[in-house]
Amino acid sequence: MSTGSAVASATERDEFNPFLAMAERFETAADHLGLDAGVREVLRTPDRELTVSCPIQMDDGTLRVFKGYRVQHNFLRGPCKGGIRFAPDVHLDEVRALAAWMTWKCSVVSLPFGGGKGGVICDPRQLSQAELERLTRRYTASIMDILGPDRDVPAPDMNTNEQTMAWIMDTYSMHVRKTTTAIVTGKPLSLGGSRGRTEATGRGVMLACREALKKLGMRPESSRVVVQGSGNVGGIGAMLLHREGYKVVSISDMYGAIYNENGLDIPAVLRWLKEHKALEGFPGAKQLDNDEQLALDCDVLVPAATENQITSQNVHRIQAKLIVEGANGPTTAPADKALEERGVMVVPDILANAGGVTVSYFEWVQDRMGYFWTEDIVNSRLEQTMVSSFNEVDSVATKYGVSMRTAAYILAIGRVAEVYRLRGVFA
Ligand code: NAD
Repeated sequence: MSTGSAVASATERDEFNPFLAMAERFETAADHLGLDAGVREVLRTPDRELTVSCPIQMDDGTLRVFKGYRVQHNFLRGPCKGGIRFAPDVHLDEVRALAAWMTWKCSVVSLPFGGGKGGVICDPRQLSQAELERLTRRYTASIMDILGPDRDVPAPDMNTNEQTMAWIMDTYSMHVRKTTTAIVTGKPLSLGGSRGRTEATGRGVMLACREALKKLGMRPESSRVVVQGSGNVGGIGAMLLHREGYKVVSISDMYGAIYNENGLDIPAVLRWLKEHKALEGFPGAKQLDNDEQLALDCDVLVPAATENQITSQNVHRIQAKLIVEGANGPTTAPADKALEERGVMVVPDILANAGGVTVSYFEWVQDRMGYFWTEDIVNSRLEQTMVSSFNEVDSVATKYGVSMRTAAYILAIGRVAEVYRLRGVFA
């Protein structure tokens, strides 16, 4: 285990390095808060980074070794919380950034958690279900010394889902010799999952969009929305926006986008996607590539796919008046500055997509109580959290005269710094 160096010199900065992007936003907020150098170093440095090698027997009998990571960024406000992703391009800096974002996200919405994140370098599309199960179980066993309901609680992220969480829960439970449902969130309902968890991130995006629209004096019925990504966040977010009366004119997946200026029938699009495994060919829609989609004339853009999508290279072509970040880190720091200068409102990831971790928190609470809530209770508590957090960030933005992003970081980092001041340095 090692800790990573947090901030490189300006000349080493790389627009597409998510950890440096996070660190740059951290420094801006820390300047506003007047944090001293020592506290900054403590707060931006990950507490623990674990790298593991997972040997897996493939279906054809050969052996392969997959590399996995778990980064625990900060424990000051409670156990670490954060997803696990399976993807070919997972790397440590990305996992570090995602873990730090989770610390700030949990703090923005006042959850009693720190931030963690995990990833395994693999291409899940090339693996059978049996291989995925063996990989998930071995990865869990390899990192389980640092997991636990009071230590670190994983959840799904890109290319992991309820089934992955069920395997993690089972593997952990078999090792500790008792069923421990609170070890992961995003589980199936029958294993201690929460009602409303699958839709939670998309629902949070829809609520953040609603609050931002009110501030801009815009109405859902006259707002054209472009959604990048059609997975858990993008697909469900688009569906809920469609239900609220927004005109979703375009949605994409990793292969490309579909567009209809009169609005897409999102339930039909999602049925098509389920059946054909791609959006391509959806009747009555024009096919676009992913770059063209981001440049569409629209009112609201919801990047809900992956990081580094709105960059210094394409920011000048973005036409949306409002960006609601469903994905983590979809806008690079230079692009952010350009959007701010142009007066484009950005509801930042650590606020806009916090619905997922909020209902994950509800799931963890329900598992520990052994008492489960109705979907209405979950949804209304989520709405309360999203609306009050949006208003708190908005007040900080007004008080400091900064963007919603900088305000969210000021709020989040200020809360963690306050806990650090009260707890003091353990030695
Ligand atoms: P997912 O795997 O369910 O879906 C990802 C979607 O993005 C798919 O439709 C995929 O085809 C598409 N995609 C991938 N690369 C793309 C590209 N370059 N251009 C266009 N589309 C592309 O993942 P998800 O859970 O929806 O997560 C999406 C983002 O939201 C990630 O950044 C994740 O960290 C973040 N997030 C997820 C949750 C959650 O609860 N699932 C919570 C908070 C944040």
